[in-house]
Amino acid sequence: MSALLRQRVAAVESAVTAWWERLATAYPALAELTVPTVEWLHRGSTAGRADARRWTVAFNRPLLARDDGYRVILPDTVVHELAHLAAHRLHGSRGHDAAWRRIMERMGVPPQRTHNLDTTGLPGVQRRWRYRCGCGEIHLTTTRHHRILKGATYLCRRCGDALVRATVISRC
Ligand SMILES: [Zn+2]
Ligand SMILES: [Zn+2]
Repeated sequence: MSALLRQRVAAVESAVTAWWERLATAYPALAELTVPTVEWLHRGSTAGRADARRWTVAFNRPLLARDDGYRVILPDTVVHELAHLAAHRLHGSRGHDAAWRRIMERMGVPPQRTHNLDTTGLPGVQRRWRYRCGCGEIHLTTTRHHRILKGATYLCRRCGDALVRATVISRC
């Protein structure tokens, strides 16, 4: 691990403690609980994940190594995942429901469900290829893209059009 990444890992870990304390101040019912354990994801495009049963939050380390990923994870994803644990504990909430959104708003972080980062090249993330049909643009896996290059035809399940390669941009 590079020195920079080590520094970012430490920054995320202390942010988890600091934001959890902020949550516990806003919602005293959380004060008796321990700070969730931080784990790391080494593959995939998800920025973070929360597990209420194991009382853990996990963050995407390859994304953290990138400047744009770091800016999204700290603090937005950190608060996003801690808010899942808090909402689950306080309201039995699952997913991005009203209880989760209220907690995000109270913490002053936009309640966004997904990030807009380019995930090309992250470990475990399949390359996607742009195609289109009557509904608009559709993104195919490399496996499907290769089958089409070899002559296979895929029909859109919604509009019934055959998928055709989108011109101009070859990769997404
Ligand atoms: Zn979420
Ligand atoms: Zn379609």
